Amino acid sequence: MATNDCLMQYFEWYLPSDSALWNKVQKDAIHLSNLGINYVWLPPAYKGASGIYDVGYGVYDLYDLGEFNQKGTIPTKYGTKDEYLVAIRNLKENNIKVLADIVLNHKLGADEAEDVLAVQDDPENRNISLTSAMPIKAWTKYTFPGRGDTYSNFKWDWTHFHGVDWDENTKKSSVFKFYGKKWDEDVDKEKGNFDYLMGADIDMNNNDVSNELINWGKWYYNFTGIDGFRLDAVKHIRADFFPEWLDKMKETSNRELFAVGEYWTIDIDVMRRYLEKTSNKINLFDVPLHYNFFRASISNGEFNMSKIFDGTLVKEFPEKAVTFVDNHDTEPDQALESWVLDWFKPHAYSLILLRKEGLPCIFYGDYYGISEKGVEPKNEMLDKLLKVRKYFAYGEQNDYFNDRDVIGFVRKGDFEHSESGLAVVMTDKEAGIITMNVGKKFANTVFYDCLGNISEKVYIDSEGNGNFSCIDGSVSVWIKDGQYVN
Ligand code: CA
Repeated sequence: MATNDCLMQYFEWYLPSDSALWNKVQKDAIHLSNLGINYVWLPPAYKGASGIYDVGYGVYDLYDLGEFNQKGTIPTKYGTKDEYLVAIRNLKENNIKVLADIVLNHKLGADEAEDVLAVQDDPENRNISLTSAMPIKAWTKYTFPGRGDTYSNFKWDWTHFHGVDWDENTKKSSVFKFYGKKWDEDVDKEKGNFDYLMGADIDMNNNDVSNELINWGKWYYNFTGIDGFRLDAVKHIRADFFPEWLDKMKETSNRELFAVGEYWTIDIDVMRRYLEKTSNKINLFDVPLHYNFFRASISNGEFNMSKIFDGTLVKEFPEKAVTFVDNHDTEPDQALESWVLDWFKPHAYSLILLRKEGLPCIFYGDYYGISEKGVEPKNEMLDKLLKVRKYFAYGEQNDYFNDRDVIGFVRKGDFEHSESGLAVVMTDKEAGIITMNVGKKFANTVFYDCLGNISEKVYIDSEGNGNFSCIDGSVSVWIKDGQYVN
């Protein structure tokens, strides 16, 4: 990662099923590039069980990128294979690297059901079996009649999976583990063993399966030219799978491919162990930081702002952290709902965009809004912060995290970016003021709040000190007067 790399998650859960996203992002490439965004994370591009309505995580056929008439349509929710390839090419031509969303934990929407023996595990503790082996009918046969053998002749059956959550005979839902199989041990310990998440859980210990997933990855890389990966649900997959898989991808690409994993936990020790087990080959989303933002936003001014980075990845392992404010799972009415409230978004984005550490990820639902849920776009605020990041957020960083409510930090700027340097002050409660030093470079100059919350200017003394303030429940971002970010 370079100093001011910036990522955007280019989708949200409630996008309309109009197959228009690949065309939209393609047309948006120049605009995104001008904002300083140089990585885009696109949603899963392959056909899901719900066809055009599938957000992409209910993977049916990894080889169908909107090319075959399967699950009701040729295109996916986001468009056709050709539109996807054009979008990737156009983003890359505008110096934006593309991260593909890789969903390998499970499959859904099988073509046929099979009779198989299974034991029923306690859904709350998968180390305990509730029954002995019994016959069930499981949806596990994937023959892809709409695609045939194009790109791959691999067909899936129950031997390639660990288990399912549905018995077609009894119409009963539970956690069914196929007789003779065991859950992978090196997975998250939630629910005893969190190998099983949903659908038909893929057995990564089956050699045919791991070979097929490597073959698929190589095909995907060569077919699309993507630059890296967002790895879905890594806590449900044995920890050594993706390091091996990524090594194979590198053999094919002959270049570094960026990888960030979704390990959903607020426990920094669990994250540390995963980073160690994966030999630091995978970066992780900073889930603890997201939850700090969320809690601060719902605490009515009672959150201790001096501890906003406590227990976070960006504090403990800054070089591995992809910081974010919200994503498609934390949106209102989603599985991991923990939506950071509107008033705190400028605070949270200032804390990920204007500081040194971490690769920040802008969420589409924040930038463009979520019309389905009445969430307003915040593109004006984000445009300003992105431009401040691009032009001013450089150099030494000093923190003034000494108060429960009002905190601040400065960047002193560097020589490569003239006039760079900034001061940020924020509060989750009442207005406040902090005397901060922006460096002698700015002695006897004037700063203004480019977010426009405060109209008075701040005079910097001969030592570089200024009295920077913010109003109730807000953030002010101070840069040298005469510099514009509009
Ligand atoms: Ca699994």
